[in-house]
Order: sequence, then structure tokens, then C-alpha cells
Amino acid sequence: MDRKALLELTGKYQSPLYVYDTEKIISQYKKITGAFSKVKNLKINYAAKALSNINILKVFNSLKSGLDTVSIQEVKLGLKAGFSPENIIYTPNGVSLQEIEDVAKLGIQINIDNLSILELFGQKHPKIPVCIRINPHIMAGGNSKISVGHIDSKFGISIHQVPHIKRVVENTGMRINGVHMHTGSDILDIDTFLRASEILFNTAKEFDNIDFIDFGSGFKVPYKEGDISTNIEELGKKLSQRFNNFCKEYGKDVTLMFEPGKFLVSEAGYFLAKVNVIKQTTSTVFAGIDSGLNHLIRPMFYNSYHRIENISNPKGRERFYSIVGYICESDTFGSNRRINEISEEDILCFHNAGAYCYSMASNYNSRYRPAEVMIYKGKDYLIRKRETFEDILKNQVEVSI
Ligand SMILES: *Cc1c(COP(=O)(O)O)cnc(C)c1O
Repeated sequence: MDRKALLELTGKYQSPLYVYDTEKIISQYKKITGAFSKVKNLKINYAAKALSNINILKVFNSLKSGLDTVSIQEVKLGLKAGFSPENIIYTPNGVSLQEIEDVAKLGIQINIDNLSILELFGQKHPKIPVCIRINPHIMAGGNSKISVGHIDSKFGISIHQVPHIKRVVENTGMRINGVHMHTGSDILDIDTFLRASEILFNTAKEFDNIDFIDFGSGFKVPYKEGDISTNIEELGKKLSQRFNNFCKEYGKDVTLMFEPGKFLVSEAGYFLAKVNVIKQTTSTVFAGIDSGLNHLIRPMFYNSYHRIENISNPKGRERFYSIVGYICESDTFGSNRRINEISEEDILCFHNAGAYCYSMASNYNSRYRPAEVMIYKGKDYLIRKRETFEDILKNQVEVSI
């Protein structure tokens, strides 16, 4: 989106503000479906946790996307957004049998990631088909904080335990209708990903009536110049071919699934914040903004890089700044960034603010969560109001003591 339009939006809706450009979301969605056009049955399930505003979910529903959910609340949001139950998949980790049963009752495809619950569920509901989440123990590389494929990861059922899964299936009479993996967050090396896929194909062959294979996510998008991103075309070409071969061998046209979050929404999002104060210390020039880790925690939590641009002074001389928040913690968004000269009240724009930004926001320091605006067909829509003092107090119970 262009700088001027973003600046106008902060005039209209104030700051801090999240803005989402649906055109970008749609083009990313089409990039994936295009890359896998040779696969007969393809289903992309948008990972709702990346950005869960109901209007964004509705955009995905209108694209005929499915929805990947990790909690019963996300399932309910998806249903409210208009997804039909058969277009929702539920991939939780560490939740109770009760929650899984409640979701299954809604007609949602469930994906179980541990043997204990698989056995209990199979005994109680042998007629409900279940997908299993496998851990192939292949590291997809990238940031170790977001890698979930290692041997002692809490995610998935180890590939070495497939014989145990088969025993549970035989003993309970349940049906496994899908196999799933989600190895980590970054597919940088297509061949590593294909190796993990091979393991998933072999797992699928262990079960005689599979409807789908879900390859999870891990599509990487660039956050800064020089970042490697997943080569979707290459992945599409290579994996489609292997997948089609698998279907032939298996004797059935099963569905190929993916569940990307970041790839679909990251680049569509902009976070806009106003500079409250410029402060020079003996070594650094800080620009303190009207936000903090309460609104955008990725830089502090994952050490993620978000490009920061001064949209109020695009032609200003470039200088070095550390951009920090107003929270009473060290909440540095970026150190020693070269940015066009910043003055107090300038608006800074954070790029790649679509995925895991608003959805991870909190009220820490009793601050309000920001407003969200969606750009759809050239028009801006307020899709979430900025919070107010009532929101801070809403569930607090004042007692007389
Ligand atoms: C978070 C999550 C995703 C989405 O991951 P991205 O890196 O945002 O694409 C997909 N599948 C599962 C099971 C997840 O937990």
C-alpha cells in the first residue's frame, strides 16, 4: 500500500492502528493455488491464529479457502464467519478430550496429536474418522524457537510410534482419514521439505482409507531485504508430481492440504504508530512510539525483524535510530535502524504486520489494544474498534473487603 494512503488512515482512525490490504491476501492465496494447479484435489486451510478478525476469515471463506483452527473458540469464530463445518480442520495441541469431543460434535474434522487421546477418543467414538498429526523429526530449519519437528517436541506423534497408532486403530475399529505434519515455520530448503513429505506418504500408506494428506505450513515470506522466501513454484512443481504419483500408487485421488498463516497474511498487514518522544543517550538516538510489546510482540518474543519506515518524512535524511515502545520493559522494535529523519509526532509504519501481530496483542500496562482497518476493493473499513477503559474493567469484579 502506498505511504500517503496509510498516512491518511492514521488521520482518520488515529494511532496505533493495524491496516490489512485484502488484495495482497487474495494474491498470496492465488499464488499457492496456482503453484498446485496440477493437483486434482487441493485444499488450502488458512491458519486462523495468524490473524483472526472475523472479516478476514470471511474474505478467506469467499475465496473457498478452508480454515485451520487450534482452539474451539477459533472453530466458533470460523462457523460465525460462514465456514461450513466440513471446511474447518481442528489441529490442537495439549487440549482436553472434552474439547476435542465438543469440536467433533460440531462436525469439524479433528486432528489428534497424541496417542493417549487417540486411544480414548477411538474407544468412545469409533465412528468418527480422525486425522493424525505425525512428527517426522525433520527440522525445517530457521528459527529454533518456532521449530516443532525435533525428537522431543511436544507436537505430533512420533513417526516411530506408527505401529502403536495402528494397534490403537485395530483395537478400537476407528478410521484414520488423514495424515498431517507441521514441521516448523520456515521451508527454506525444498528438498528437506520433500524428505519430510516422503515420510508422510509412507505413513499414509500404512492406513487403507485416507481422504487427505495435510502438509501443514512453513511457507516463508521475506521480512527484510535479502531474506530467502519459500519458492512456491518449485515446491508446487516438485511436490505435485510426487503427490500425483502417490495417488496413483494408493489407488485414490486424495486431497492435498496445506495450512498457511504467515504466507497468506503477513505482508498484507501494516502497523502504524506515532512517535511520542525522541531521546538521545550517550550512545543512541531512541524514538519512543505510542505502542509496545503489548501491540506487536514478535520482535521481542521471536527476535523477528519488521521493516520500519517513517512515512511522515519519506525524503528526510537517513539517520540511525533505535525504535522502542512505551511499556515498562525493554521493548525494542528495532536497533540501529537507518530511517528517514524522525521528529516527534511522525508516523512510523511497521511492515509484515499481518501475521501474529494483532492476534498476539494484550492489555499489558492496562493499555488499549489498537483498532483494525481492512482495505477491501479500494475502500477502508473499520473492522475492530480501539479498546476503551470499559474493556480494561470488563471482567474485573470489584469486591467489598
Ligand atoms: C500456526 C500453525 C500453522 C501456520 O503456520 P504459519 O507459519 O503461519 O504458516 C499451520 N499449522 C499449524 C498446526 C499451526 O499451529
